[in-house]
Amino acid sequence: MDLKHRLLQESFGYTEFRPGQQKLIDAILAGRDVLGVMPTGAGKSICYQLSGMLLPGVTLVVAPLISLMQDQVAALQRKGISACLLNSAQTAQERRSAMQIVAMGRAKLIYVAPERLLAPDFAALAKNLPISMVAVDEAHCISQWGHDFRPSYRQIPQFIRSLPKRPIISAFTATATAQVRQDIVTALELQTPERLVTSFDRPNLHYAVLRAYDREAQLVRFIRQQDGACGIVYCLTRKKTEEMARYLCDNHISAVAYHAGMDAMARRTVQQRFVSGAVPVIVATNAFGMGINKPDVRFVVHFGMPRDIESYYQEAGRAGRDGAPAHCLLLFDENDINLHEYLIGLDPENPALTDEEVEQLKKRNLARLKQMRRYVFTDQCLRQYILQYFGQDAPSFCGSCGNCEASSVEQDVTTAAQKVLSCVYRVKEQCDADVICRILLGSADEDIQCYAAVSTYGIMQDSTAEDIRAVVDHLVSFGYLVKQENPHPRLRLCASAKKVLFHGQKVVLRVRVSQEEAREVRESSRSSRPELAKELREYRRSAARRRGVLPYTVMPDTVLEKLVQQLPLTEDAVQAILRTDSRQGKRDAHKIVKIIQKYCLKHFTEKK
Ligand code: ADP
Ligand code: ZN
Repeated sequence: MDLKHRLLQESFGYTEFRPGQQKLIDAILAGRDVLGVMPTGAGKSICYQLSGMLLPGVTLVVAPLISLMQDQVAALQRKGISACLLNSAQTAQERRSAMQIVAMGRAKLIYVAPERLLAPDFAALAKNLPISMVAVDEAHCISQWGHDFRPSYRQIPQFIRSLPKRPIISAFTATATAQVRQDIVTALELQTPERLVTSFDRPNLHYAVLRAYDREAQLVRFIRQQDGACGIVYCLTRKKTEEMARYLCDNHISAVAYHAGMDAMARRTVQQRFVSGAVPVIVATNAFGMGINKPDVRFVVHFGMPRDIESYYQEAGRAGRDGAPAHCLLLFDENDINLHEYLIGLDPENPALTDEEVEQLKKRNLARLKQMRRYVFTDQCLRQYILQYFGQDAPSFCGSCGNCEASSVEQDVTTAAQKVLSCVYRVKEQCDADVICRILLGSADEDIQCYAAVSTYGIMQDSTAEDIRAVVDHLVSFGYLVKQENPHPRLRLCASAKKVLFHGQKVVLRVRVSQEEAREVRESSRSSRPELAKELREYRRSAARRRGVLPYTVMPDTVLEKLVQQLPLTEDAVQAILRTDSRQGKRDAHKIVKIIQKYCLKHFTEKK
């Protein structure tokens, strides 16, 4: 085993590199500058930590937030890695002892706040340090056209130029459009860097947008559906965080508020209670989250629309870092847009910019806001919308976002999933997805013949390769299977596969309702769905009888017709048509959506 794999195992406790990590580390160790663009949670920090440990000299890590650096340094020290921290919030005593450690050459990784770089005492020390690398985390902060410009980042290139020998420069960010990426390369003066952009897709995240009709109640309803799981609720203002935390508590959901107006002590306590799991829900402004390493956040709700897709994706991305399914819900109100327009119109407090630059900045912020606004109104696949925003191609149907769900129905594929999983087991986890599919199909290909004696050979010969592939991809996306590359590409079982194989857990795949047929049916007269109308009327009649009320009070004809016409496929969509949020209404929506889904599944579905 080579040195970097050993370090990965022994110091960090991981068996394999994640996509992209190895390539960046290799480039750094070969002496090259790098630009790593990876989504939140992809594992950027290991890239500079691990390569920093292997470089001959020290590595300076520049990051925007002191709390983030403190946590990283503490985590490294617990792993026995020599790291220390220099920032302006330290007491003179703390700083002196950190400087001593550095001067004695006892720190391999030195975390520095950007504003300390040019402080005379540090600059003097730096000149005598063998600096192998300067790693810049959250590198988009250097771009004044990015969504999170920090003037202190402008000091980084100046500092690097003042060093006797130019170190390797590595830059990392989670949010960068092509323009901001170029900006980072230019501003940091990266020299023909190895650029690596990993997929921005987070397949375990489910995206949804809901228009507010009764936002507070919608939020409570959503959180109740999460069965006590941990989550973050982002609000646009400090006042709102406190109001909503109180509102949730009044509704028996344990929640705490967090915003930058609270004193440091209070913030720390609140944060700790959330991270430790003592309180499941934190209601916060966007001041919360950077550097918080809580892998099991199961939902992120935006109670209000953020100002741009970058912010949204970064905040929503704090859900599901452990790879298990998680929800990202945006509850928006048209007033949110006005609020952002107003805020963008205010002069940014930034003396470093000329009037002309301020104007340009506003224009770009408004353009970004427009894209965010399009997101909440689009009926396109939400995942595709986000990925395209970041310059990545994506299929037009992901099957796990609110918009895809509104144009698809569920299909139980548990049996197929069991066959796939047991096939992976039977071949001792030695085959990749393609081979698994061909074994299940009973392929006559020569390279498959050695599996002809395996008990799962040919047990799915009535399916198509695409169908099986869809199930395999789904099992990978949802963490039942994992793809491994070393020593050769293969699928391996995850612990949760047992639930499907032995404990009756269902696997459900989304099947898209054919748009053309749906449109055709929609365009022809309503009476072309007498079957559905009849079923809905029957439901209405029996519900009315049970409740002892008249049928039209369950739903009037106008509503029934609307259901038949629009074919809403989610409970939320049905409820929006029923225009009720009562318990009764919810139960109706639950039943009605099943009836409509069944109808659609029967009449016009296409394969995913
Ligand atoms: P980022 O900075 O990209 O948001 P982090 O570096 O904080 O992400 O890593 C996210 C999580 O993934 C952390 O919990 C980290 O320990 C974990 N992680 C990173 N690399 C690996 C790996 N190769 N195998 C398993 N877990 C990893
Ligand atoms: Zn989708």
